[in-house]
Amino acid sequence: MDMRPILPPGRARPHVYDARQRDVEAFNYFTERNLDAISQIHQLPADLRFDMQVVSSVLPFKVNSYVVDQLIDWSDIPDDPIFQLTFPQKGMLSEEHFERMATLHRRAAPRAELKEEANRIRLELNPHPAGQTTLNVPRLDQEPLPGLQHKYRETVLFFPTAGQTCHAYCTFCFRWAQFVGMSDLRFAAKEATQLAEYVRRHPEVTNVLLTGGDPMVMKTHKLEQYVNPLLDPALEHLQTIRFGTKSVAYWPQRFVTDADADDLLRLFDRIIESGRSVAVMAHYNHHREMETAIAREAVRRIRDTGAVIRSQSPLLSHINDNAGVWELMWREQVRLGIIPYYMFVERDTGAEEYFKIPLARAYKLFREAYRHVNGLARTVRGPSMSANPGKVEITGVTEVAGEKVFVLRFLQGRNPDWVGRPFFARYDKEASWMTHLRPAFGQEKFFFEEELERMTLKKEQETRLE
Ligand SMILES: *Cc1c(COP(=O)(O)O)cnc(C)c1O
Ligand code: SF4
Repeated sequence: MDMRPILPPGRARPHVYDARQRDVEAFNYFTERNLDAISQIHQLPADLRFDMQVVSSVLPFKVNSYVVDQLIDWSDIPDDPIFQLTFPQKGMLSEEHFERMATLHRRAAPRAELKEEANRIRLELNPHPAGQTTLNVPRLDQEPLPGLQHKYRETVLFFPTAGQTCHAYCTFCFRWAQFVGMSDLRFAAKEATQLAEYVRRHPEVTNVLLTGGDPMVMKTHKLEQYVNPLLDPALEHLQTIRFGTKSVAYWPQRFVTDADADDLLRLFDRIIESGRSVAVMAHYNHHREMETAIAREAVRRIRDTGAVIRSQSPLLSHINDNAGVWELMWREQVRLGIIPYYMFVERDTGAEEYFKIPLARAYKLFREAYRHVNGLARTVRGPSMSANPGKVEITGVTEVAGEKVFVLRFLQGRNPDWVGRPFFARYDKEASWMTHLRPAFGQEKFFFEEELERMTLKKEQETRLE
């Protein structure tokens, strides 16, 4: 069967960006409060609009005019992948949750009541998967630094306070809880100086990853406040500054026509001049996000600075559950000079029921796409689960001594010694997350489990001592 996707009819594939058309575009966005202001919505059936209203009162919704006007194919609703990626769908809530919210909407309940019910439902959706709130928070002089995560030896994640939103929200996002105003579910940094000080005291840290939300929602001068302290020559062990961002797909104007786009590229220049590299960890979900002229221009301009763009993408039902989409995505990335980096498995949070794909199928799709691209695209690794013990890759499905097994390995581990060591789980065609897997060959535990339990206990004790 040919699984190649067909580009929607009439969608031109402009390769060249016309710089004469470098008009500054205002950033217009829509949320659940002004969903109706999107003119394309008016043509949709009333029940679909009601469903969107209900779901968006629980899960975050935000989309901008570029995504609406240039990425979504409105002749293919509701199946269009970018529509599925950004607009709430009924199936994203369980029937029970949906009904609880829908009942309130039908009788036009007051906002406060809607909010209360929404918060109750949110707490039932595993808002903080993989022990993010406590296990990964580092300390400086015993003081917890809630805007930092230090899970893997060499990499510190930094969540700048001013970067806790995105140019649009992905319906599957595992960080959804940060966006819905549940204040105790947010973690954000107060100060950039704490970050630099933390890095100074940790010579094992070779790279800092600014993430969010999306750090590129910040104006360049704000971003500079966070980055500048890291360029101190005293932090010689810091080799790379990474920016985790979806802006290259959702708002490429950030790098081309925004008033401070050039300043941002100069910031990249300055990081590189300081003897470090810049890695833009670009989040893509579909090849269509790379097909507009401005998206390609953004990639070209970023690469012109010497920054390297690596792509990471979760595998999602309704959006890119198709080997052909991945094949095309990786091919386009290689064409544009983007390095394919990770294929992720959707996390066990939020609307995961809607998006999840069994690990066995994820592996099959990965391999199908991987087989069809050349070696330059095979820098991609996956399918990978960002689970509590680490990033675990499904390396294969095979049979060992008559038992069907998953072959797994850590790409990152809480203990770096775990990395690269193959291990085996019983094959299970329904399993869709690490916690569903059991060790193969009649073993009680995976090789890392006892150590992980000890690490968890130690962290819990430290927290309790306060
Ligand atoms: C993925 C991830 C990183 C970065 O991992 P790389 O394999 O180096 O890209 C760092 N910290 C956390 C918590 C992560 O989930
Ligand atoms: S851009 Fe990233 S952080 Fe923002 S909603 Fe999408 S996946 Fe989540």
